[in-house]
Amino acid sequence: MTDVLSKEQRRFCMSRIRDKNTKPEIIVRRLVRQLGIGYRVHVKDLPGKPDLVFRKHKKIIFVHGCFWHMHACKYGRAVPKTNAEFWQTKRLSNKLRDSKNRKELKKLGWDVLVVWECQTRNPSLILKKIHRFFPILFSPETFR
Ligand SMILES: [Zn+2]
Repeated sequence: MTDVLSKEQRRFCMSRIRDKNTKPEIIVRRLVRQLGIGYRVHVKDLPGKPDLVFRKHKKIIFVHGCFWHMHACKYGRAVPKTNAEFWQTKRLSNKLRDSKNRKELKKLGWDVLVVWECQTRNPSLILKKIHRFFPILFSPETFR
C-alpha cells in the first residue's frame, strides 16, 4: 500500500511540474507579447501563483489544463481508467483551490481571466478574450 501511494504521489508531482510553462501557456504568452502588454509569470506572492500577472493593469490570466483543472469540456470530463478515485480527488482539490484563489485575488482587487487549454487551439478566440479583458488598451480611441 505504501508503495502504491508513493508511486502515485510521485506521478502527481511530475504532473505538477509539467503544469508550468506548458504549450497552452506559451501560446497565450506569445499572443499577449505580440500585443505589447507587459507581464510577469508565476508570481509567487499572489494566491495561486498566477501564470500571467499584469501589475500595471491589476489583471491576471490563468492558463488551465482542461484535465487537471476539470474544465466542463470533453477533456476536463475525461475519467482516468487507472486509479480513478485518486486522480478524481486530486483534480477536485485543484478545482476547489482554483476557485478559492480566484476569490482571494478578486478580494485583493485583481481582475481574473481563465484561459482553458482547449481554447488555445483557437487563437482568434483567445485574442478576442484578451481584447475583452483589456478594454482600455483596445478601445476604438486607442487606434485613432
Ligand atoms: Zn477544455
